[in-house]
Amino acid sequence: MSEDLSRYHRQMILPGIGEDGQQRLLGSTACVIGCGALGSVIADLLARAGVGHLVIVDRDFIEMTNLQRQTLFDERDVAEAVPKAEAARRRLGKINSDVRVTAIVDDLNRTNIERYASGADVIVDGLDNFEGRYLVNDFCVKHGIAYVYGGAVGTVGAAFAILPHTPGGDAPWETLPDGSRASPCLRCLFEEEPAPGTMPTCDTAGILASAAVTVASFEVAETLKVLTGNYAQVSPTLLNVDLWNSSMSELRVAGAYEHGDCPCCKHGRFEYLEGSRGTGAATLCGRDAVQLTHRQRATALDLPAIAERLRPHGEVRTNRFMLRASLTDNGKPYTLSLFPDGRAIVHGTDEAAVARGVYAKFIGA
Ligand SMILES: [Zn+2]
Repeated sequence: MSEDLSRYHRQMILPGIGEDGQQRLLGSTACVIGCGALGSVIADLLARAGVGHLVIVDRDFIEMTNLQRQTLFDERDVAEAVPKAEAARRRLGKINSDVRVTAIVDDLNRTNIERYASGADVIVDGLDNFEGRYLVNDFCVKHGIAYVYGGAVGTVGAAFAILPHTPGGDAPWETLPDGSRASPCLRCLFEEEPAPGTMPTCDTAGILASAAVTVASFEVAETLKVLTGNYAQVSPTLLNVDLWNSSMSELRVAGAYEHGDCPCCKHGRFEYLEGSRGTGAATLCGRDAVQLTHRQRATALDLPAIAERLRPHGEVRTNRFMLRASLTDNGKPYTLSLFPDGRAIVHGTDEAAVARGVYAKFIGA
């Protein structure tokens, strides 16, 4: 690594960064989970800012429809079917050779998150589903790691930097002399996952690239504050933006910890990390199919409403007992069978990660 910091001059003259802050960035590790519309902007800007080690986790390959918004990738990556994490690593190496990039092509789940994210100073959200976010949230609260949440779909987006209350109460933002800067966690804000099929996804509702870039940009600013120890500058409000309707709002959420009864950061129950909540995935032997079971779903899904949303994307049939849709992802055909209790079977693969990807793209949550 070069000791010459001159390339960071315009960043170092900012208040709150300076040479000390730059050295801290160069000595930091940021883990970017998901490298799509949000993650590619986040990884790009963090590499340019000189965050010394970037860990990029993504399970997907690059498709032509990604290029409208996923700014790290190009047509050659599509032609060569390069995984996103690996394409990002190659591109970021050309942008800033000071930065070490670890590319992990895998589906993040509770069995591997410790392996991939341990050692990170911050986890930055480029995910497309709430289950993954709750898993990251559990991990970050348990280990006292900052988690910068962000999401975008359609023309809207939201972001919030979480400095969690930890079981030991000894994270650096909890021991500041001017009082605790800890914030509510994601489950303080949204205690339950949205029901499958009730939230739009980028594949069913589209996405305005600039909405994603706005959210990603906010996430990067919060990440740089965290990594340089500027905890007092971290925004205490949940940002909501709608780029098409030109609106931006900041929701005060500081009371969500005190007034709520969060199972995660208040009671130390890490249900997604422990597996008592979330998608159980099981390969159905000999059937080229994977079953995904959403546990603890008490209310039945609205299958006709979900069918309406899926209809533009393939043939969909429903009856009282199930919905069946023929869908295409990464150029490959899949049949998705969805049941009112949230259980799903994805035909056309025997890989849990692929099945989870198809489910996240078309059903969401
Ligand atoms: Zn909480």
